[in-house]
Amino acid sequence: SLTGKTAVITGSNSGIGLGVARELARAGANVVLNSFTDRNEDHALAAEIAAEFGVDAKYVKADMSNGDECRALIEQAGACDILVNNAGIQHVAPIDEFPVDKWNAIIAINMNSAFHTTAAALPKMRAAGWGRVVNIASAHGLTASPFKSAYVAAKHGVVGLTKVTALETAREPITCNAICPGYVATPLVEAQIPDTMAKYNMSRDEVVEKVLLERQPSKQFATVEQLGGTTVFLCSDAAAQITGTTISVDGGWTAL
Ligand code: NAD
Repeated sequence: SLTGKTAVITGSNSGIGLGVARELARAGANVVLNSFTDRNEDHALAAEIAAEFGVDAKYVKADMSNGDECRALIEQAGACDILVNNAGIQHVAPIDEFPVDKWNAIIAINMNSAFHTTAAALPKMRAAGWGRVVNIASAHGLTASPFKSAYVAAKHGVVGLTKVTALETAREPITCNAICPGYVATPLVEAQIPDTMAKYNMSRDEVVEKVLLERQPSKQFATVEQLGGTTVFLCSDAAAQITGTTISVDGGWTAL
């Protein structure tokens, strides 16, 4: 059980981050939710988790594109035994047309933020004598697709940072691993379906199987609960010697 541990999950007011936060809370951890929005709904999500799972939960606003705010998030969290670097955005364009501001934002949010939060969290983990860093990378941390240069570069970078973090903590009761999801059913992915149906004149099932899940042999989305469960496993005693590696949750994508 993770009772008494505190988990900070970046980018956790929706999708995978929220799913991971909920599963960590179900396992007994106190959770710190984050996004850059600071809406009433964000604070309400924390209150709902606290009520449902009987843990402490709070929301802390911090923009993961800003290094100082990444570090401030860890300071404001108080304890940080478990750090889940999840915040991420995407933009799709050929390299020669890729907007520079999008490139910089993706590298900052998807990769640099993990450096800043990890730098701020490791001293707390060392002081507590235990820690877990879980980086939500992607199948695109291990393979590439055209038109996703910034995303693929950032996610490969996160996998590299994961290995270095693991080596620097190898003699301590701290581990660092990356989870590499394939396509996950989130509101973001769900929102792409109607447009794609219209674009290719396809049914919903055809869009899911032939377009979205083209490279996912299982032809099923991973769920946010499964990613939460994988995170809980990496935080368990059974995973104490798992460090510096990647776990794919991709229905066979990277086996192709
Ligand atoms: P999402 O859009 O639902 O969630 C992204 C989260 O990041 C949100 O909570 C958002 O508020 C937060 N965020 C965005 N910019 C931020 C910023 N500047 N500061 C703080 N928070 C910010 O998307 P998701 O699908 O849940 O993605 C979460 C992570 O999982 C991302 O790193 C993404 O690359 C990765 N991932 C997703 C999939 C998928 O199929 N959905 C697959 C592989 C990897």
